[in-house]
Amino acid sequence: MIAFRDVHKYYGDYHALRGISAEIRAGEFFSLLGPSGCGKTTLLRTIAGFEDISSGAVLIDGKDMAGVPANKRPTNMVFQSYAIFPHLTVAQNVGFGLRRDPRSKAEKDKLVEESLEMVGLKGYGARAAHALSGGQRQRVALARALILKPKVLLLDEPLSALDRKIREQMQVELIKLQREVGITFVLVTHDQEEALVMSDRIAVMFEGEIAQLADPETLYRRPNSRRVADFIGVMNFLPAKVTGESGDLISAEVAGLGVLDVSTSQVSAAPTGDSAAVGFRPETLTLLYEGQQASDREAAGTIDEVVYYGDMTYYDVRLDGMEKPVRISMRNVFGRPVLDVGTRTRVSWSPGALVLFR
Ligand code: ATP
Repeated sequence: MIAFRDVHKYYGDYHALRGISAEIRAGEFFSLLGPSGCGKTTLLRTIAGFEDISSGAVLIDGKDMAGVPANKRPTNMVFQSYAIFPHLTVAQNVGFGLRRDPRSKAEKDKLVEESLEMVGLKGYGARAAHALSGGQRQRVALARALILKPKVLLLDEPLSALDRKIREQMQVELIKLQREVGITFVLVTHDQEEALVMSDRIAVMFEGEIAQLADPETLYRRPNSRRVADFIGVMNFLPAKVTGESGDLISAEVAGLGVLDVSTSQVSAAPTGDSAAVGFRPETLTLLYEGQQASDREAAGTIDEVVYYGDMTYYDVRLDGMEKPVRISMRNVFGRPVLDVGTRTRVSWSPGALVLFR
C-alpha cells in the first residue's frame, strides 16, 4: 500500500530522514516507533503530503506521490491535539469533510451516523463538541477521518493526550476498528508498549533511519541491536566473551554464569562495534525458592532492590562475581511473600531465551 524508496529529507542542513526504504502492506496496522526527534512524524507527513522529500520516492497503492498535493492523496490524518471545531456539533464535525460532496443531506446524515456508530458514539450527533471528554473528542476526530473512506489512515500520537486508563481502552478499540474497516493504519508513537499492543509490524527509528522493522514478538525476542533491545522493554546486558562456534550453537562466557550456548537464531544481526554481551529479558530469569530445583542452570546472588507492582515484582539481584545487578521480573503468586532486600537467593534461566549481541 505504501512504499518508501530511499527517502531523504533535509531541513536546511539538518538530515532528518536518512535513506528510508520500507513497505507497508494493505490492511496492516503499522507503527513508527522511536524517541523524540528520530523523524517518525516527518516520515508520516511525507505519506500525507504535508512534507516534501529531498530525494527518493513515496508510493501509495503503486503510484508515485511526487507532486500530488495532500488533498488529492488517498490518506487522512488524525492528530494528537484533536483538532475538532468546538463551536460545531459532533455531527457537524464528523460531516465537515463532506461539505462539498454532491450527495443529498439525507445520505450524508446517514454516513455521519454510521461513522459515529463505528467509533462508539451512536446518538451523540447533536451534542456540542466542546462538551465532550478527551476520549470522546478523539473518537469524533477518528469518525471525521474515516467518513472520507481513505485507503490509509495516518495517526500522529492520537492517544498521547489521554489518561492512562482511557488510552488503554482506546488502544483496544482502535485495533478492533482497524480490523472492522480493513483500512491500512499507520501510527506514530514514542510509547513502545503502545506499539507492541497495537501493531502488526513496527519500524523502530533512530536518528532518521529504520533500525529494525519486524512484528512485535520478533522485536522483543530477537532485537537486532542493543539499542533496539533497550528501547523495547527492559533487557539485561551481561558482558560476554565468545569462546567457540559449532553448528548452530555459539558459546559465550559470562562472568558469574559460566559458558552459555546460544542458538545462532538468537544472535543479533547488527554488529555495533561494542564488545559482546548476552541479553536477558527480566522475565526469562527466575528466582528460585528454597528447595526449588532449577531446570537448567543456576547462579547465586543477593537481592539489591525490590520494586513491587501488585501483579508482579521487579528484583534487582547482584549475582556472585558480577559487577552490576540483573533485573528479574516475577509474577506475584498468592501465598508467596515478596522477598526483602538483602535476601540470599538463587537464579535460573532458560538458555533459549537469551540473545547474543556481538
Ligand atoms: P517527536 O516525537 O518529538 O515529534 P519525531 O520523531 O516525530 O519526534 P520529527 O518531528 O519527525 O521527530 O523531527 C525530526 C527532526 O527534524 C527533529 O530534530 C526536528 O527538530 C527536525 N524538524 C522537524 N520539522 C522541522 C522543520 N519544519 N524545520 C526544521 N527542522 C525540523
